[in-house]
Amino acid sequence: MDGSAGRCPHAGPCARGALGMNLLRFRASVGHVADFVHAAGDLGGRGGPMVRPIEGLRRQQAHQAGQRTRYLREVNLEGGWEEGDIELLIAGRADGIDLSAAVPVVEEIKTFRGDLQSLRQQRGKVHDAQAGLYAALFARRSDAELLLTRVRYLEADSEVASDIEHTWSRAELEDFFDTTCRAYAGWLLGAASRRRARDASLRALSFPHGAFRTGQRSLAGAVWKVLGTGEPLLAEAPTGIGKTVAVLYGALRRLPEIDAARLMYLTARGPGRASALQAVAQLEAEGAVLRTLDLRARETLCFLPGTPCNGSACPYARGYYDRRRAALGELLATDHAQQPCVIDAERTRRVAGTHQVCPAALQKDAARWSDVVIADMNHGLDPFARQRALLDPDEGGAAVLIDEAHNLEDRAREMFSAALDSHALRTLGVDLRGSAAALGQGLERMARQLETCPAAPALADLTPLAEQLERLLSELGDWLGHAPAGGLFARCRGTYGSLLRWWTIWREVQAAPDAWRVTVQFSDPGATRMALRCLTPAAPLAREQARWKGLVLFSATLASSEHLIRVLGLPQQTRTLRLGNPFPPSHQQVLLVGDLDLRHRARAASTPALAQLIIDLAHARPGHHLVFVPSFAFLRTLSAAVAERAEAALPDASCLCQRPEMDEAGRREFLDALSRPDGRTRIAFAIAGGIFGEGVDLAGEQLVGVVVAGLPMPPPDVERRAIRDYHGVDGFDVAYRIPAITRLLQAAGRLIRSGRDVGTLCLVDCRLAQPGYRRLLRPDWIVSETGCAGVGEAVTAFWAHHPAMNERRDQHAQDQDHLHHRPCNRELSDARTALPGGHERSPAEHVPRRSRIRDQGDQLDPDTESKSALSGPHPAGHAGSGNPYR
Ligand code: SF4
Repeated sequence: MDGSAGRCPHAGPCARGALGMNLLRFRASVGHVADFVHAAGDLGGRGGPMVRPIEGLRRQQAHQAGQRTRYLREVNLEGGWEEGDIELLIAGRADGIDLSAAVPVVEEIKTFRGDLQSLRQQRGKVHDAQAGLYAALFARRSDAELLLTRVRYLEADSEVASDIEHTWSRAELEDFFDTTCRAYAGWLLGAASRRRARDASLRALSFPHGAFRTGQRSLAGAVWKVLGTGEPLLAEAPTGIGKTVAVLYGALRRLPEIDAARLMYLTARGPGRASALQAVAQLEAEGAVLRTLDLRARETLCFLPGTPCNGSACPYARGYYDRRRAALGELLATDHAQQPCVIDAERTRRVAGTHQVCPAALQKDAARWSDVVIADMNHGLDPFARQRALLDPDEGGAAVLIDEAHNLEDRAREMFSAALDSHALRTLGVDLRGSAAALGQGLERMARQLETCPAAPALADLTPLAEQLERLLSELGDWLGHAPAGGLFARCRGTYGSLLRWWTIWREVQAAPDAWRVTVQFSDPGATRMALRCLTPAAPLAREQARWKGLVLFSATLASSEHLIRVLGLPQQTRTLRLGNPFPPSHQQVLLVGDLDLRHRARAASTPALAQLIIDLAHARPGHHLVFVPSFAFLRTLSAAVAERAEAALPDASCLCQRPEMDEAGRREFLDALSRPDGRTRIAFAIAGGIFGEGVDLAGEQLVGVVVAGLPMPPPDVERRAIRDYHGVDGFDVAYRIPAITRLLQAAGRLIRSGRDVGTLCLVDCRLAQPGYRRLLRPDWIVSETGCAGVGEAVTAFWAHHPAMNERRDQHAQDQDHLHHRPCNRELSDARTALPGGHERSPAEHVPRRSRIRDQGDQLDPDTESKSALSGPHPAGHAGSGNPYR
């Protein structure tokens, strides 16, 4: 479902289009309209054996291949329907059109297992409506007076086919098309008036707080320019610029002009989602009329976890389609003047509970009618979780905004990888012996086959296993269709998901075998894990991107744009933007300590010197320091060494340590300790690339120093080595160096969060002095190289001469008075950064005295945007004369 104002797109003559009247155009697929208007009864039917999409596709293709010569397969059809100033454009692909008989036959093919009568009862009306809509669209390009529609049901496991046929005159088809569209238009009328209000509000939208901060105008303008051009944008915008609101502002200002129904905002972590929701709220406060949906996983929303999603088992699936419209009407209804329109999990569950419908299905339906959908990266990209309908061009499509793009490479590799675990298969097989003996034996057979496979199988060796797995999927699908709710059902559904993922990735592998590697890990006897590891996600990502109506990727830390363009499958014409640091460089002392070897084999020998360095630093500048290290083993050793020295040198100091598998309470406790500065020194140890390496916002005295000790390289396991080998001469960069520097930059980014923050960043590792690593550090850092022994003196000199220090001392005195009233963490950060008029006030510049200073020659001027570089094949402003950023 899409709506955009524009000239009538009819291929044929259109009076209003010819007169230049503005129509509000909505786009929807045949399948969606048929379902929305004609569906009734239960979600997921009454249970029964499942047919996997690929099974349906194969059976359908076999059927199509056996047809006569004048049989057209997969015919694209589209046509319009108008009323008032609304136009509905309906499009889709008919399965087959048989022109061999006197009366053309429009075929809709469905593959099924189980009871056909029950399927007809549940979904027959929708199937018939799909065939009727396709026939009506085909009739517009045919001169036949009569047409036959045939819904052909193919049994998945036999050659049997059953047909439901209906003969239509042209007038009957046109009447059916008109009636269906009119029923759909009942919803469009409401959507159209909202859309007009939305577009008007977005065209007049001002930037929140009345003024752009440094860098925000460039970023918003670049987003505005690229959307609608077909060229992606890859933008690096350092912390503090306010990139989330800038990107959303640029995209929303553009939305009324481009052919996209919605914005899909994808994030990698919870804090990114919270930032997006906060930015939407700011834009709504400026007058944007938006419907925003915070998309959540089914497991988060479900009322009855572990229950089969069908009408026999779940009361919220039973009669879902009969109550859907009322529930959807309430969920979508808002008085924008009264409240921001965010459809979150709580609201979805509340409305779904009132109407006794499935909240997960209701959320999906609501997403189609939303302007901004905020979701995890999985929902845009993962073959099993992506929301196809929201991104489908036939449904209006979406422009995609991806935050924290530095995470995308690894996340995408995970999404396009799959593993089978023999232990899990065997355990489930044993547990099924009593209730489903044949299925249990099948699972145990599969486990044995995994355990006896060669240690390094070639892809071709896996074909028998894939065939066995396909049969097992069918049996498990049958069982799930009838299974009672409970723990065994939930486990079987989980295993079904794992098998299906493996099998689907296996099919991807066939198209580009070089981009995947098979890895086999044998652990205890009876525990073998076989994985299909994606080495580069470029091909599947490129395929997905081609369907989107625009793409913006952004992050605070992109170690190498060229690298990301290659591994993410971005086109060569991708435009890049790198913004300078918005804060004065003099607020951050960057020390590079290059005389300590912290490679794995040398860590034990270097630990005493590193511990002393940290003590010297904390002695020179008391307060809160975060020390990032590459591993938990090193964290334990180093923190013990620091604690031992601190007893004598810093008796008032305390140490905190990140623990493996830290839960939310532990995480909060860790951050709370840092968020209440009281004059004491706290040295916190955390893992670079871990939970405290991103999304942590400690401002002012909450954090005065960050140490990144050692390069946080990914572990050199068999999968990393495969990635390195695959990428040839760039292999080391792709597999190790770039991920390590990305984690380092993220960790370093915890230090300066606002224009009033001052701090010392200490990077310790001899490898960082090498050009291959140095070139990946931020060019706007002023790096001072020093040795271990010189850190204390350098830190003392920096802070002694920094004008902010006096202010800090005054502030600290006040903090002591108001300690119990201090806001913590983000609240504190926001309070300090929100200055009157929305401008970030820069403290007076001061260049500290430094020993052995080595400036980066190409540092960016933080107070102007003149050196912000938007690279690409087109000059700025090429996108149209309405560019508000010229
Ligand atoms: S409420 Fe839960 S079990 Fe019921 S249909 Fe929805 S997701 Fe499935």
